[in-house]
Amino acid sequence: MTTRSIGTGRQRDVASAMWRGARGRCPKCGVGALFTRYLKVADHCPACGEAFYHHRADDAPPYMTILIVGHIVVPLLVLVEEMYRPEVWIHLVIWMPLTLGLSLALLPVTKGALVGLQWALRMHGFDPDSPEFEALPPGAAVQKTPLAP
Ligand SMILES: [Zn+2]
Repeated sequence: MTTRSIGTGRQRDVASAMWRGARGRCPKCGVGALFTRYLKVADHCPACGEAFYHHRADDAPPYMTILIVGHIVVPLLVLVEEMYRPEVWIHLVIWMPLTLGLSLALLPVTKGALVGLQWALRMHGFDPDSPEFEALPPGAAVQKTPLAP
């Protein structure tokens, strides 16, 4: 992947945005934290103020994580079974924690990379000219005037 030009003509580097996101950093500046908690994406970058609430990662990060972990664990499991024929409990002791640990470690990586990809490609609301653009984060407090009695 390389730089693409979409919409307004301003270019964003897809590879660096995904790399920064995978490291849990802002895809724009690479300094601010992308997440406020384990998988909770911040509304804005604390360093440059770039809005992140436009991301729509949804089910893609778990899907990619399962794909990657499955391609690591299953070949190793088959290899160990064919070479050593261990008891079932040994398989469970090895592969269950490895699968769980890899999944938990990779989830923020894949989610950050996906948010970086969406930002770089100006997907969803990351393009201010998009009809999906929202000026405020979902659930942001809206000023309401009290009704007169
Ligand atoms: Zn930033």
